[in-house]
Amino acid sequence: MGRIIAIANQKGGVGKTTTAINLSACLAEKGQRVLVVDIDPQGNTTSGLGIAKDNVDNTIYEVMLQEIDISDAICKDIFENLDIIPSNVNLAGAEIDLIDIENREYILKNAINTVRNNYDYVILDCPPSLSMLTVNAMTAADTVLVPIQCEYYALEGLTQLIHTINLVKKKLNPLLELEGVVFTMYDSRTNLSLQVVENVKDNLKQNIYKTIIPRNIRLAEAPSHGLPINKYDTKSSGAESYRMLADEVMSR
Ligand code: ADP
Ligand code: MG
Repeated sequence: MGRIIAIANQKGGVGKTTTAINLSACLAEKGQRVLVVDIDPQGNTTSGLGIAKDNVDNTIYEVMLQEIDISDAICKDIFENLDIIPSNVNLAGAEIDLIDIENREYILKNAINTVRNNYDYVILDCPPSLSMLTVNAMTAADTVLVPIQCEYYALEGLTQLIHTINLVKKKLNPLLELEGVVFTMYDSRTNLSLQVVENVKDNLKQNIYKTIIPRNIRLAEAPSHGLPINKYDTKSSGAESYRMLADEVMSR
């Protein structure tokens, strides 16, 4: 039965989508069967993996509205071992569309449960908010992986995020665990990055991944080519670091 990992942090621009794409691709490269589910209306995971998000009819939005079966929203084998459920701007309406639905927190979980047996990993890329979509992801997930950008305000919002995880655990998903924290956009030329890592380690009693994702321009370029880093520049520091993260995730 596939392990479901939600990649969440209500701050934007911390590396959620970059991690969703490249962790998924590196797990797939290692022979794991992976489904990545884009649940951000921005659809950056969708376009970053080469899918024209405005031309897809079957997205996670139609799945959540229960208009289609989840298996009909899966784009299969976009790369070897890697499937995706796309998203686009329509998903922004889901919060309102589902306002009257009972147990709406469980919609994603119920849908994913019908396909999780086909995968080793299901990776959920969350939007930059603690909205109903993120709550759905945390309710569906076994664990939450939190990317933290190595910058001055790194810890801002983390208390709120952990509070939300605990609330979901208490009310909706008793088995939910924090998968761990992964540092992103680490710049070895600045003291600041190092300070942020030390500071978070001192303040956070949670699992922290040994792998630290460096700031690497190739990681920023790859999405415009519709490719994960291991296909775009397989020897880059970005590709190597996401392979190491995949190894660590697999060893947990
Ligand atoms: P989020 O999904 O949390 O909003 P993204 O993954 O979209 O964050 O990253 C925000 C921006 O930073 C994007 O332009 C992305 O290409 C860039 N980026 C993310 N991680 C790195 C990295 N390790 N090195 C360089 N650029 C990165
Ligand atoms: Mg994103």
